[in-house]
Amino acid sequence: MSGDVDQTDVDLPITGACHCGAVTFEMNVRPRHAIECNCSICRSLGAVWGHGNAGNIVVRADPGATISYSHGERDLAFHTCRTCGSTTHWEAVRGASRGRMAVNLRLAAPGTIKALGHRHFDGAESWTFLD
Ligand SMILES: [Zn+2]
Repeated sequence: MSGDVDQTDVDLPITGACHCGAVTFEMNVRPRHAIECNCSICRSLGAVWGHGNAGNIVVRADPGATISYSHGERDLAFHTCRTCGSTTHWEAVRGASRGRMAVNLRLAAPGTIKALGHRHFDGAESWTFLD
């Protein structure tokens, strides 16, 4: 399918791992973009997210290998490796987004973010893209 650029520029699955390797992920679909968000939590974590449905993302980690953090409405659980401190993914555990997840593409192969298209989302205010 020429013209279907979305399917040709990133090899699937997209894989990533925290710095120490205790937590790994595999994303079996191409996220629409690589999204950096300026809301309070994303700004703190410095993550660039690849969003998808939970059914298309596999996270492998021993039980207790991550610290889970939720704030505000507590709809999202952000996971950080307990050993090396890398934030690996979030999971919508309740609310309207339940079933959605995102992986931190900064932990994927170099070039992945650029290949997906690095976009900036204004999660702090307007909930629109800034670019
Ligand atoms: Zn780690």
